[in-house]
Amino acid sequence: MRVGIIGAGQLARMMLEDASALGIAATVLADAPDDGAAQTCADVIIGAAADEAGVRMLASRCDVLTLDHELVDLALLSRLESEGVVVHPPTEALRFAVDKAEMRRHLGAAGLPMPNHAILEPGEASDLAALGTQLGWPLVIKAARGGYDGKGVFVVEDPEAAAATIDDLHRAGITALVEEAVAIDHELAALVARRADGQIVAWPVVETAQVGGVCREVVIPGVLSPEVAAHAEQIAREVAELVGVVGVMAVELFATHDGLVINELAMRPHNSGHWTQDGSVTSQFENHLRAVLGLPLGATEVTAAAVASINVFGGDDAVDLDEALHRALAEPRAHVHLYGKTPRPGRKLGHVTVVGDNGAEVRAAAWTAAVALGTPVPAEMEVEIR
Ligand code: ADP
Repeated sequence: MRVGIIGAGQLARMMLEDASALGIAATVLADAPDDGAAQTCADVIIGAAADEAGVRMLASRCDVLTLDHELVDLALLSRLESEGVVVHPPTEALRFAVDKAEMRRHLGAAGLPMPNHAILEPGEASDLAALGTQLGWPLVIKAARGGYDGKGVFVVEDPEAAAATIDDLHRAGITALVEEAVAIDHELAALVARRADGQIVAWPVVETAQVGGVCREVVIPGVLSPEVAAHAEQIAREVAELVGVVGVMAVELFATHDGLVINELAMRPHNSGHWTQDGSVTSQFENHLRAVLGLPLGATEVTAAAVASINVFGGDDAVDLDEALHRALAEPRAHVHLYGKTPRPGRKLGHVTVVGDNGAEVRAAAWTAAVALGTPVPAEMEVEIR
């Protein structure tokens, strides 16, 4: 079996590790030869995710196409599907991860819980003062397509700022999703894997500690009540069934004092699930491959009492990662996962996971290794370094 991955970032790179273990061959479609997964894959096609010739070459070599990111050309993938190419997740599902407005419409029609919102297509005018009064100021305005890590999310305080932001999006031909600013108690991620025949497995729901729209850490056990976690998992299972995803899907949710609302969907392995590599019976990367290839899905239980996974970011000071690795691995329990990227301030370079008996201990150990790799500790977080 050969799997073709559109995009060659860190998610593809980590899928390749599990593909190797299972004896599955892989080809990646990479923007550049130094992309994370292009560095480690034996078969690389250079081309953009929307480059028809590149995607067709990938399809011709592989049994199934899957993806590393959602900045793909849906129309192209849909044409390939009609020609018999297997794309997992199928474009009928993928469109709800690619386009937040489509996702809000579809999940809203099914009665799933979501923030109050309005969808403004390019060319569509709206009374923003009235909309602001209805949803409450400030408003959260999002690019329906193309955003990631909080890029494409804007908080606006008044009708003038809202109009300027929406105009910018509309001029670029992008639909604006206008949402109420949710009073968030916790941001959660519910991770599932689904096969084409409908089998679904779910990992434990986690809280994602976010700073500036970027996940910084996941710690198990977290502070979520079993009831909230169970509800989040049930929502994720319902969404997976409703959209017909094949592969791994993360449902990002906000927990508020009124209950859960869905923020967005990711149809690929997700940053909130990197802990599964070292802390679960089956990693999200392995189950993604199993799901897209129609293999039986693996068990998703946590294998220890506590797991902490901390993202590694570039800081302002230049760090030699080879040298920093010596310091990070002085923490003997640290599982270091680096993505093959050159450090730059704010760039996500990898993650460190520690598994053990005690939440506070594994968190401190993982942070110690992440800081040794140059990760700045955000002012918003309290962190114990050994
Ligand atoms: P991206 O697709 O770039 O990850 P998200 O839609 O996940 O963007 O939004 C990024 C972050 O912005 C979220 O993690 C959350 O902290 C905040 N956010 C998004 N939507 C809302 C909202 N309606 N109310 C309050 N905060 C929000």
